[in-house]
Amino acid sequence: MTKVLIVEDSRSFAALVAKRVRLELGFETHVAHDLAAAVEYIGQGTDYLAALLDINLPDAPHGESVDLAIAYSIPAIVFTGELSDAMRESFWNRHIVDYVLKDGQENVDYVVKLLARLQRNPETKILVVDDSRSYRHAVTRLLAAHRYHVLEAATGEEALAVLEEHPATRLVMVDYNMPGMDGFTLTREIRRRFGKDVMAVIGVSSMGGARLSARFIKSGANDYLNKPFLVEEFYTRITQNLEMLEHIAMVRDMAERDFLTRVYNRRYFFSAGAQLHGLLTRRSQPMTVAMLDIDHFKNVNDTLGHEAGDAVLRQMAQLLSSRFRVSDIVARLGGEEFCVLASDITSDQAQLLFEDLRATFEATPVIFGDTTVSYTVSIGLCSEPGLSLDEMLREADRMLYRSKSAGRNCVTRYKPDA
Ligand code: GH3
Ligand code: MG
Ligand code: MG
Repeated sequence: MTKVLIVEDSRSFAALVAKRVRLELGFETHVAHDLAAAVEYIGQGTDYLAALLDINLPDAPHGESVDLAIAYSIPAIVFTGELSDAMRESFWNRHIVDYVLKDGQENVDYVVKLLARLQRNPETKILVVDDSRSYRHAVTRLLAAHRYHVLEAATGEEALAVLEEHPATRLVMVDYNMPGMDGFTLTREIRRRFGKDVMAVIGVSSMGGARLSARFIKSGANDYLNKPFLVEEFYTRITQNLEMLEHIAMVRDMAERDFLTRVYNRRYFFSAGAQLHGLLTRRSQPMTVAMLDIDHFKNVNDTLGHEAGDAVLRQMAQLLSSRFRVSDIVARLGGEEFCVLASDITSDQAQLLFEDLRATFEATPVIFGDTTVSYTVSIGLCSEPGLSLDEMLREADRMLYRSKSAGRNCVTRYKPDA
């Protein structure tokens, strides 16, 4: 379990923060009311995600708590009533994660968000591209303090190779002045491969000037940073750009997925399905369209209520999508009707796969409160080459209705002469 150390002499404030961290993040909290107690906790060798540190404690009035955390390599978040500019600078130089002033409710919100982000950051890859080794080192150190997964490249060419190997990289910091490919060219090359909505680029230069920042942004960068920068500015820019990508991903998710079951929605199925169908047709690869419909689903709602029906829909969708690759499309077309477009599956393979799925649905009842809800699913398949996506859907749907009239809970596949 993730653990956070809270060093704070105000008992009520420490209790408030600890409670929110436990309830909202599910982390374990250790609370120390003075430095001696903090020393004791840390001495036990616990692995802390971070320490929230008051710098003014009865037995340590000069920020000794920060020295302690840093000495034990615990990410330090200074959370304090007031802070002089000089102290703030000295804390940044010692590589604290952040500082937060205790002057309002919204700052507790900020700390909770910061801790959540710190826990997730190891999944976020950031590439630092700069020909200066010492600069890369300094930036890497700042990013590592926030637990990001940092990648490095000394040239534009090297950066493109790193991105090819790590296409899920979220953010690239691009230096302008490099031997070989310059920062603008690299930014344009990144943009030819990755959209602004999935990978952020921040241009960096010591040459300064508004012209450079405008050219970076026209080359496809999301943002620009002057060297040298304040550590605080550096972190806020990084966070801002990553949050933007997260918002875009969230909006896209809401537009493409069904809210109840989290599989794709009807609109996504038809737009992405047309593309996948076209690609597979050009490559002469086999594919299968399956239509699935829960049997007598109205009975579940009528006898156990709509919420039980929703639980069945969710579990059925989860079982269904667990059997396919991310490149296949599993969608809820509406109501209790689902559809799959799966690549590289011949008619015979599809028959076996969906027969197995059908049996799995039948054998896996849904636990809803203290009732067990059993359900079955009827399935229609079409794997016929040379048909358009609409024709395949129509035939799969016709086969689904044959399954229904044959008594339900069965799989029927399309045969050209049938
Ligand atoms: P059949 O075996 O012929 O498919 O019978 P059926 O009862 O499954 O089919 P019918 O089309 O008569 O009823 C579908 C039911 O699905 C009606 C509706 O209440 C229910 N339904 C549709 N969408 C939802 C949903 O989002 N949640 C729940 N709980 N029920 C839904
Ligand atoms: Mg039905
Ligand atoms: Mg899916």
